Amino acid sequence: MSDARYHARLFLETLREDGVEEIFIPLSHKKASQTRDDREGSLIILRKEALRCTKCDELVRNRHSVVFGSGNIKAELIFVGEAPGSEEDRQGLPFVGRAGQLLTKMIEAMGFRRDDVYIANVLKCRPPQNRSPKPQEIENCEPYLTAQLALIQPKVICALGAFAAQTLLKTDIPISSLRGKTHDYHGISLICTFHPAYLLRNPEEKRKAWEDLKKVKALLEKK
Ligand code: SF4
Repeated sequence: MSDARYHARLFLETLREDGVEEIFIPLSHKKASQTRDDREGSLIILRKEALRCTKCDELVRNRHSVVFGSGNIKAELIFVGEAPGSEEDRQGLPFVGRAGQLLTKMIEAMGFRRDDVYIANVLKCRPPQNRSPKPQEIENCEPYLTAQLALIQPKVICALGAFAAQTLLKTDIPISSLRGKTHDYHGISLICTFHPAYLLRNPEEKRKAWEDLKKVKALLEKK
């Protein structure tokens, strides 16, 4: 069993201890159509658990909503960002502020609709004043993302920004060095690119981001 599925299973076992009776995690990376309802059901249960999660005191005190993730549960492509911002916290949805609008344009430039992909963050609750997530908060929250990835089983993960890339790859290598390569996340191809918020501040870097997205598209078409 891969590390990702092992950790997802451990996490789901803690849900069972909390009284969750039934949850399904596919054991194969092959997407059998008959598992769709099971996977959808498991994601719904996982989302319910996240919505009532109180593991991070400071974040719980300051949040308006838990931003679990949204999109197509059969997606072949998942975008993973850092944490919700103020607009995301207000609406309960990931990437809906200015950076989110740019992400939508990036997705559309690839020839997809936003509904074709799945979008999530490492942290499900907004850090106050958009400060960086703390190590304990990452440790608390990452199992939700691990379980999301295990349930959706995308072909490609696109990590948006240094924080998501370094968290998923368990490294402190700068994003500038992580870009331009295809990484492996427990058998899933992972491409790192800049966070859309960074691209809003540094529009001259959009060309590099587009190169990254072309790499993502090529991987999706190859498999
Ligand atoms: S950030 Fe994650 S672990 Fe922390 S309270 Fe929110 S949902 Fe729970």
